[in-house]
Amino acid sequence: MVRISSENHVIVMSASNTPCAISKPGETIVFETMDAFGGQIKSENDLFSSVGWDRVNPATGPLFIEGAEPGDCLKVDIVDIRCTGKAKMIISPGFGILEAAGEKSFVFDLSDGKVIFDEKIHLPVNPMIGVIGTAPAGAGIPTGTPGVHGGNMDCTLITKGTVVYLPVNVPGALLAMGDLHAVMGDGEVAVCGAETGGEVTVKVDVIKLFDAPYPMLMTTDQVVTIASAAELGDASKAASGNMREFLVHAAGIEKDKANLLLSLAGNLRICQVVDPLVTVRMEFSKEILKAYGYV
Ligand code: CA
Repeated sequence: MVRISSENHVIVMSASNTPCAISKPGETIVFETMDAFGGQIKSENDLFSSVGWDRVNPATGPLFIEGAEPGDCLKVDIVDIRCTGKAKMIISPGFGILEAAGEKSFVFDLSDGKVIFDEKIHLPVNPMIGVIGTAPAGAGIPTGTPGVHGGNMDCTLITKGTVVYLPVNVPGALLAMGDLHAVMGDGEVAVCGAETGGEVTVKVDVIKLFDAPYPMLMTTDQVVTIASAAELGDASKAASGNMREFLVHAAGIEKDKANLLLSLAGNLRICQVVDPLVTVRMEFSKEILKAYGYV
């Protein structure tokens, strides 16, 4: 099994990054990850303004997957996510969509599968991956920005048991990930989840010459298309349009019917509204796809 230490990380997803490890399709890999603050917030005295921007949202990797060529699809099975250490959060004026009176940092213990928020509330841990992506073909994209290549999607469905489909834009795909959240609500309105370090176990596979409306997820019961844009409306159109494309091309549902089905049974939800681009997802039931013969 390949294990990649968090010392190997990038802050830009780029074709020019040097791979830190190589794996074969079908192999299992463990990515050890730092928290989104690069481990720089250790106590409530460490403020976000003191965090070096060159160390925000570090993504462990990139991993070179043998045989992955531009035009292929990278299939990433999330086998396990383990959040370790304490959870860190910040509020800061100008970040998030809620007013923040001043800058503050918070540190929460994780205990017995709960985030110890205060004496009244212990929130069940529901680990997810904030940043996961491949290198884009052209200019590099900071790990804090989401896009077609994946990146900082902050989607609560990117969790244990989910399969993430990402485009292969450059030889080897150059997969990187980080920014674990012990728990996060859809929207991430205050700008962060319960940010932790930890490790992610994935199995990677290459689907040759396969095009999907990227990024796409398969959960146990849903197919999910994700899109990011400067405005929520544009992200909503893109996520919905991507799912329609999938219904038409993968499941053979005619376009008009696909529109109706998405209006009846598709759920458009917000992933996050606080990153440089906002992210929206369209969720659709696998059961309905099965009725149309899609396996
Ligand atoms: Ca994030």
